[in-house]
Amino acid sequence: MADAPDVAVVGAGIVGCALAAFLAEAGASVLLLERDEVGAAASGRNSGILQHPMDAALAPLFEESLRHYGELREHGFALPDEPHGVLILAPSEDALAGEREALRDAFPELRAELVPAAAELEPAIARDVAAVRLHTGYPVGPAAATAAFAARARAAGATIVAGGEAALARGGVTVDGARTPAGAVVLAAGPWTPALADPAGAWRPIAPLWGVVAEVRLPAPPRHALEEAGIDQLVASGGDPPPLFSLVTTGAVSALGSTFLPERPDAEALVPLLRERGARFVPALADTRTGPVRACARPLSADGLPLLGRAPGRHDVFVAAGHGPWGISLGPASARLVAELLLGRVAEPPAAFDPGRF
Ligand SMILES: Cc1cc2nc3c(=O)[nH]c(=O)nc-3n(C[C@H](O)[C@H](O)[C@H](O)COP(=O)(O)OP(=O)(O)OC[C@H]3O[C@@H](n4cnc5c(N)ncnc54)[C@H](O)[C@@H]3O)c2cc1C
Repeated sequence: MADAPDVAVVGAGIVGCALAAFLAEAGASVLLLERDEVGAAASGRNSGILQHPMDAALAPLFEESLRHYGELREHGFALPDEPHGVLILAPSEDALAGEREALRDAFPELRAELVPAAAELEPAIARDVAAVRLHTGYPVGPAAATAAFAARARAAGATIVAGGEAALARGGVTVDGARTPAGAVVLAAGPWTPALADPAGAWRPIAPLWGVVAEVRLPAPPRHALEEAGIDQLVASGGDPPPLFSLVTTGAVSALGSTFLPERPDAEALVPLLRERGARFVPALADTRTGPVRACARPLSADGLPLLGRAPGRHDVFVAAGHGPWGISLGPASARLVAELLLGRVAEPPAAFDPGRF
């Protein structure tokens, strides 16, 4: 056991990479295991925006994560100085009045403001579309945050091993069947976390919710992130709903989304539907060719909150997963909470995030 790492982290998404960085910087020896490559799943293929989660339990994680992102410059990550703003879109002002009121009361920091003609703010938007404007939304691109935390973890001495399938074993993990002892194991494997914690299948508090995103280069892309109203309800409802329009522009490239599907979809086959839906809000999408298309799975927990802490009934196995549609925005703060627990600096993370609640 002399050479065993203090902590083996399974999964090099945003959560696993940030966790590896924080632990290694605190002096722990860290082995980060990834079956594919860094950011291979949702953490490298998402829409690429840091955004307020509009949930009181999660908002502090967002504020803290922004501070962590502000400290990543030397690892190749640039956080925009100001949010670009998010426009929640609907065909009429009436459909948005309730949303604006609710957001203004619950989250004054978002400065929710009704914009009767969104085209006055963003000429790319159709004339008859209304919006609620929110003071949030930092476009950063899909993979930049995870790549930067991976670089920071390596710089602090963490070892990242990619290309092997990890599984839990007594006193450590196996990688492609070969045993590696570890003082503690953290499962940060996104939607695959429960299957690692409980291969028998009884414990399934996180499920995949698949999204498809197509890249487009619009002649005059909007600076705001655009989201069709209703994403909250869709994420909560599960099932097999229609796509809902979103468009996030980072540099010259816009990510056109998205779907909310329980099974892995045929991504290419969904592109015409995404364009058709999007063209209702941004007419230029009807005539603009799409570029690369990608699918990835949101790790959605049963109550919409992440699972951060000790795996139920386990002393040396921890869970850090379940951020649904918000993992890039919240992952670093969640990772810091789990790191503090492993380092013995806090007894337990907040009860709302305790994996034992399921
Ligand atoms: C279409 C779409 C758009 C999104 N846009 C945004 C956005 O703009 N902003 C935002 O904040 N969030 C967004 N999200 C959500 C965000 O991408 C996720 O919440 C986040 O990436 C999850 O990170 P994670 O580290 O928990 O898991 P993942 O990124 O899923 O990483 C888990 C890793 O574990 C690895 N793994 C799994 N099993 C094993 C094993 N047995 N052995 C070794 N490795 C294993 C996987 O290969 C993977 O790399 C979006 C999600 C989708 C689907």
